[in-house]
Amino acid sequence: MANTIQAIRGMHDVLPEQTPLWQYAEKIIRDVLGAYGYSEIRLPVVEKTELFKRSIGEVTDIVEKEMYTFEDRNGDSLTLRPEGTAGCLRACLEHGLLNNQTHRLWYYGPMYRHERPQKGRYRQFIQLGVETYGMSGPDIDAELILLMDRLWKKLGIRDQVRLQLNSLGTIAERGVYRENLVQYFQAHLEQLDEDSLRRLQTNPLRILDTKNPAMRDVVDNAPELRDYLGADSSGHFSAITGVLDELGIAYEINTRLVRGLDYYSKTVFEWVTDALGSQGTVCAGGRYDNLIEQLGGKANHAVGFAMGMERLLALMETRDNLPMAKPVDVYMVRVGAKAEQQGLRFAEMLRDAVPELNLQVNMDGGSFKSQFKKADKSAADYAIILGDDEVERGEVGIKPLRDGQDQQMLSQSQAIIFFQSYLLSR
Ligand code: ATP
Ligand code: MG
Repeated sequence: MANTIQAIRGMHDVLPEQTPLWQYAEKIIRDVLGAYGYSEIRLPVVEKTELFKRSIGEVTDIVEKEMYTFEDRNGDSLTLRPEGTAGCLRACLEHGLLNNQTHRLWYYGPMYRHERPQKGRYRQFIQLGVETYGMSGPDIDAELILLMDRLWKKLGIRDQVRLQLNSLGTIAERGVYRENLVQYFQAHLEQLDEDSLRRLQTNPLRILDTKNPAMRDVVDNAPELRDYLGADSSGHFSAITGVLDELGIAYEINTRLVRGLDYYSKTVFEWVTDALGSQGTVCAGGRYDNLIEQLGGKANHAVGFAMGMERLLALMETRDNLPMAKPVDVYMVRVGAKAEQQGLRFAEMLRDAVPELNLQVNMDGGSFKSQFKKADKSAADYAIILGDDEVERGEVGIKPLRDGQDQQMLSQSQAIIFFQSYLLSR
């Protein structure tokens, strides 16, 4: 082992025993997004560094210290995407998708942030991103929340997550609030930690996000953003909570939820859990109308969210009885030269006739005993047995591997019917 190469710290392999859970979750996600009429968009994992500086903002944690930035061979500064919102909007602007149109989009794939690796926090992680464009009213904000609520139910983790909501108002409203907040913190400088003193200069709202218990008092007594919202912002917010009340979706209003990124306005939300320790945010998003102009587009509207798949899967692993597909239903045992040849032929016939059956054929020979061991290990429900005797008679043996029933001999066409009804009864 001493001389083998290891993966990069914070970047993980998903091994074959773990992929069924990923595939199970991915299928449900696709189905739910389909049920709301969302389309997939596929985007590069590398973009010009400038895109992230302009969209995420120079004084955010991501741009200040988390980006994987490098010069390519032409001397251009490129960055592995730390999130998907900027790239998605870049693509839509570039291809003219935002001209008098609405869009409901999603993407799925790896993001890169140079953070300190720990449970639920990695340097390569997978996000599902959902972005909508061109819709200004509160109903689309509410639709995203309904979609997520449905997703948690289908994934069986609805009781593990809670919705937190806030409104950040417009840039102007937030500007007035920010001034008052800075004045307040300046009057309490002695209670601020080093991080917060720095944020007071750069991004004072982020101080409200602090996880330092020693700062709880000073943050609890700070002015609240909701007292600075104008009629349009508060109307938008109460329309969303109105929909949620009507449809029976519980939420908490968290006035200190400000999100790290500068581009949000009005609605912001997070789905949080207590089951994953300090990495408790599974999904986060909000409205970011301003970002479109910031990236050179015409004034428009955007709302979206991103979900961390590793945290989602960690939550799903707390469930029992996950109904996941098995990689192998049937394992074919072949002993003898003729059986080996006939076996491949019959396997192809079976795949033609029963395409949903997961059939694995034994390779590289071996005794009946050693092949049965492999059949057992594959977790298949049945073994198909072909020896030279079976080939002679044009039959196959079918042995149940899980419930101790006897082996039976069937003709090849009976065997096909047998596995068709096995799939139906499953
Ligand atoms: P956090 O506060 O946990 O650092 P964030 O505000 O930086 O999260 P976002 O940029 O909003 O996260 O990303 C959306 C989601 O992506 C998060 O809620 C989380 O589930 C997931 N996520 C973010 N960073 C990581 C990471 N380094 N490793 C794994 N998942 C992550
Ligand atoms: Mg972060």
